[in-house]
Amino acid sequence: MKNLLFVLSGPSGVGKGVIAKKIIERNKNVKLSISCTTRESRKGEVNGNHYFFISKKEFESRIEKGEFLEYSKHFENYYGTPKDFVLKELEQNDVLLEIDVNGGLNVKNSYKDALLIMVLPPSIEELKNRLLKRHTETEEQIEKRLSRLEYELDKKDQYDYVVINDTIENAVEQIENILKKEKNK
Ligand code: 5GP
Repeated sequence: MKNLLFVLSGPSGVGKGVIAKKIIERNKNVKLSISCTTRESRKGEVNGNHYFFISKKEFESRIEKGEFLEYSKHFENYYGTPKDFVLKELEQNDVLLEIDVNGGLNVKNSYKDALLIMVLPPSIEELKNRLLKRHTETEEQIEKRLSRLEYELDKKDQYDYVVINDTIENAVEQIENILKKEKNK
């Protein structure tokens, strides 16, 4: 069985963070890659746990040194996947990247065996409600994120699988089945 590098993408607020957490808890051979970002930490976020929060200057210097497997910029901030961590973990484990669609497609360009899974909500209204319930963003920020939805939906045909997050349990099970199938290919 091969070790998989798999990407979970999907609109902000779709629940991919919770899904990723469940997958990690239930599958000891799956390790989560921790991204670097230049955005401010939100309430409750811990450095080195949710993200590595670094300065723009440090991020740009690490880009120059080629230390990211992929990186992109959203809402004025950089986000990137540390290459070292991912390649080292892949020697022993499966690695899960929770990143945006551009990041996912960039990973596939540099690592062709990467498996791309997109998580989508049952409806856009549902997603909007989830974002509003999060209470971490302003209306304007929420609108910005929603306007990105169309862009992300456009890219779904370039993904290997689409999973609808109707319930977390279902979505997790579907993803685990995909992994089982792909590992045995
Ligand atoms: P947030 O600020 O809500 O944590 O994340 C904003 C967006 O950045 C999300 O779509 C998230 O998936 C994406 N993201 C997080 N880490 C990375 C990364 O390492 N690379 C890329 N390209 N996107 C990321």
